Amino acid sequence: PLDKDELGRNTWGFLHTMAAYYPDNPSKNEQEDMKKMMHIFSKFYPCEYCAEDFQQSIKRDEPDTRNQYSFSQWMCRMHNEVNVKLGKAKFDCSRVNERWRDGWND
Ligand code: FAD
Repeated sequence: PLDKDELGRNTWGFLHTMAAYYPDNPSKNEQEDMKKMMHIFSKFYPCEYCAEDFQQSIKRDEPDTRNQYSFSQWMCRMHNEVNVKLGKAKFDCSRVNERWRDGWND
């Protein structure tokens, strides 16, 4: 089985990559589906206390699925909430597409 950290790294990889390739001009259906996906994800993430906190975060700051930029920024904010909770440094969200879509420029 994956431990909590390995599961987390793999899952963030999936979530940020999904946000990186989310459409620039999503249909209303796509926007609603992605919102639902995140709500359902937050109920079934297989780390119970992680999932409970994530559900609270999503209630405070609903998934912003208007376009690729807004959704990847939202995902970055969600990840930063966990980073802060764990005493880690915040990630610079202006670099999220560089990290997860385009590759680092430097
Ligand atoms: P990770 O935090 O896994 O990050 C992987 C890579 O993502 C980093 O190397 C960096 O390049 C990049 N990155 C970092 N921050 C951002 C950001 N804000 N935006 C974009 N990219 C970024 N662990 C707990 O102990 N308690 C919890 O309550 C908890 N809740 C979690 C909830 C969710 C939804 C998920 C997916 C994971 C959760 N985890 C939790 C796991 C935790 O977030 C980490 O995945 C784990 O601690 C391993 O951390 P890491 O330092 O290897 O990097």
